[in-house]
Amino acid sequence: MNNSALISKVFRKEVLAMVAYKVANAQGFIKLDAMENPYSWPDEIKSQWLAHLRDCQLNRYPDPEAIQLIKTIRALDHLPEQFDILLGNGSDEIIQLLLMALPEGSSVLAPAPGFVMYRQISDSLGLNYIGVPVLEEGFDLDLPAMLSAIEKHQPLLIFLAYPNNPTSNLFNADAIHAIIKMAPGLVVVDEAYAPFANASFINQLKVYDNLLIMRTVSKLGLAGLRLGYVMGQPALIEQLNKIRLPYNINCLTQVTADFALTYKDFFAQQTESICEQRTYVFNELVKLASVIAYPSAANFILFKVPHNKATDIFLSIKHQGILIKNMTGQGGLLTDCLRVTIGKHDENEAFLAALRKSLADLTL
Ligand SMILES: *Cc1c(COP(=O)(O)O)cnc(C)c1O
Repeated sequence: MNNSALISKVFRKEVLAMVAYKVANAQGFIKLDAMENPYSWPDEIKSQWLAHLRDCQLNRYPDPEAIQLIKTIRALDHLPEQFDILLGNGSDEIIQLLLMALPEGSSVLAPAPGFVMYRQISDSLGLNYIGVPVLEEGFDLDLPAMLSAIEKHQPLLIFLAYPNNPTSNLFNADAIHAIIKMAPGLVVVDEAYAPFANASFINQLKVYDNLLIMRTVSKLGLAGLRLGYVMGQPALIEQLNKIRLPYNINCLTQVTADFALTYKDFFAQQTESICEQRTYVFNELVKLASVIAYPSAANFILFKVPHNKATDIFLSIKHQGILIKNMTGQGGLLTDCLRVTIGKHDENEAFLAALRKSLADLTL
């Protein structure tokens, strides 16, 4: 038997049809492609953190319930006692757990464009993924289209990223309420960008039995840890807990996240700087006649460049040492769009200078 016969025999057709999620090599670049926090920690905080790490017992399995960390997260997000929290190895793992728990062949629905992992993982599991286009103007939810897709496909899981990635806007809250009420299954409000948005559905958990709130520490400033979490009714969390691998949050992550979220004040400062820089970058983009910048409630900005020039501009910026994200390949509303993560002031200046140069080169 040759190898390709073996491969097509042992892997499901959904897996064979997939393309792996590719992450660009960022070595040597100013990295503005992945919504990371650009700041590291003050030295004195680093030393305190290292002192905590000393107590990690690497010879032992981690606390399977991560009791201390869950307590810290509960306090941080002011989550009432009647709700439970489940931790994941990044919120990507939570998305995977939720999708794995669905009945075979279920429909999953989210606005399009949306976070790519919703579709990627749904496809890998052979689920029926439906993307409902957002409105062209302002990227808000097309509520009639959402409601009729819900009626038609009866999705057992709906993802609403709030703010949305990659469009960076907060969807209309009334529309989200209407969707939660109409949904035949669960609605996950994905608050990955909550630190930058000043908006949340956490206090709606007590209103809707089918609502789950998902968050992550990645965009806040701990992307390297891989820690996400979902909050909701204990009866829902209990089911998800059955398919969670017992030690999915390692002890280095547990200790580090607990430390960082307890000493969270410096994150608040960093978040504030990022929001200030977001305003700065947005205003500079607006000054460029050939660019359309979209308002952002997150730590990145989506912008549109002249038709069919996105890839040229992306590569020109890259050749100038700055890595952003080229979105045009995803098509639809993202045609001609690029996405830049907000960095430190000098990184943002370098990006803006590179963009201006690439635009000037186009018109030569
Ligand atoms: C980045 C992102 C995530 C994934 O976060 P991790 O916790 O790093 O896996 C989830 N949802 C949205 C909308 C994101 O942009």
